Amino acid sequence: MAFDLTVTYSPKSVQKAKMSKIKLHNSKVRKKEIFEPIDPSNVRIYLCGPTVYDRAHLGNARNVILFDVLFRFFREIYGDNNVKYVRNFTDIDDKINQRAKDLGREIQVITDETIAWYLEDMSLLGNLLPNEMPRATDYVAKMIKIIEDLVQSGHAYEAEGHVLFSVKSFEDYGKLSGRSIEDMIAGARVEIAPYKADPLDFVLWKPSSNDLPGWQSPWGRGRPGWHLECSAMSHDLLGDTFDIHGGGNDLIFPHHENELAQSKCCFPSGGFANFWLHNEMLQVDGKKMSKSLGNFFTVRDLIDKGFPGEVIRFVFLSTHYRKPMDWTQEKANQADTIMRRWYDKCRDIKNATKPSSEATELLSDDLNTPGVIALLHKHFQNKNFVQLKADANLIGLMTPEFNDWSVNFDLSKFETALTEVRSEAMATRNFGRLDDLKEKLSDAGVEVQMTKDNIKLIPTLKFDLAKLEHIL
Ligand code: AMP
Ligand code: ZN
Repeated sequence: MAFDLTVTYSPKSVQKAKMSKIKLHNSKVRKKEIFEPIDPSNVRIYLCGPTVYDRAHLGNARNVILFDVLFRFFREIYGDNNVKYVRNFTDIDDKINQRAKDLGREIQVITDETIAWYLEDMSLLGNLLPNEMPRATDYVAKMIKIIEDLVQSGHAYEAEGHVLFSVKSFEDYGKLSGRSIEDMIAGARVEIAPYKADPLDFVLWKPSSNDLPGWQSPWGRGRPGWHLECSAMSHDLLGDTFDIHGGGNDLIFPHHENELAQSKCCFPSGGFANFWLHNEMLQVDGKKMSKSLGNFFTVRDLIDKGFPGEVIRFVFLSTHYRKPMDWTQEKANQADTIMRRWYDKCRDIKNATKPSSEATELLSDDLNTPGVIALLHKHFQNKNFVQLKADANLIGLMTPEFNDWSVNFDLSKFETALTEVRSEAMATRNFGRLDDLKEKLSDAGVEVQMTKDNIKLIPTLKFDLAKLEHIL
């Protein structure tokens, strides 16, 4: 076979040469490291996706938005066709089984419906589809093969119809999370069971009773443990070493620790993920938003209340992904006002230019999205609207995915009325009617911007069309 030694210098690679190196915080070493892809023509990233039994809560959107920014950034740097983004759907899980039982519905009806909701909600937040969205149910044969190999190589053992991974057989176990054995035993989601040789050993396969979903296997009818699917899918779709693996930092232990142990033991020549990217949690009153604590609201709740998806995205991007954050109405109001101002100047710009080097530099420094937003403000102040749009596009704002929610209301007749009332007030030095009109507009959720020669009305999140209609 002949080797192709030609090197093509596309504009993208020229730009890359000029750019500073990309630095990302790698949880594996707990610091920022220079990121170099294994293969710049095939950059591979994997995000642990949702367990599909119910609507996504707002916290679940955080890493989807983060990975969407990473995906867009990498496509910009390495080329649209040179980045492969995989995000799975966990459609085998005891919570799903329980849900089906509670509702008296078929499991697959629930998982299909939840997947459709999820894709719709994430799309409303401006996220591109990953290249691959594998489902656990399509990977059971591959999972069984991995377990067989692990048993054969002495990393797993069968006990009472279960197959368990032997944690002691992998000397690096605990390194990713940096936890001691005692901490891991005390930690969340470690199940003590009589058939385990060691309390830290985790389930690769477990038996299913007839009323539960199950697959035939060398260990009888059963189903896989949760961690195994990501090892199977990432290997199948991205190979035994890939660039970046991510998820919320609540997944580092045990989920990612266990994925890593399985994959390294089953595919010892590979390195699994070179970089581990973990986002901090969305919080409510200092506590992680979660289904189990009950302190959650869904993405759909917010959309139904009238928050535009783009405003929700803006709020997320305003905090760096490694900082905990809260959702507040105040942040949403601010984001809404800012986006409307920007759209007012940028709506008609059809062909945005390339992102600025300042914007790509900011993302090169561990995905500094708050920095990019500050840069967008600077572009606005400098009236550099073309660059504002291009740099906003880089982080997935003002993209064609959003269908211009900010132009639903034509307020020009109110602007004309206000202009007349103001002229009259200036002439008569009687400001009563003007103040009254301004107050009514503000009460209807409209921001009034007045300069000497111009009046501009901008709807805010509190915008109330019904109130507005009765003003004139
Ligand atoms: P789950 O369905 O709970 O397994 O979570 C799906 C994804 O959402 C995982 O990557 C979690 O890390 C992430 N996640 C769950 N809760 C939060 C939260 N409050 N803030 C940020 N990410 C979260
Ligand atoms: Zn996973």
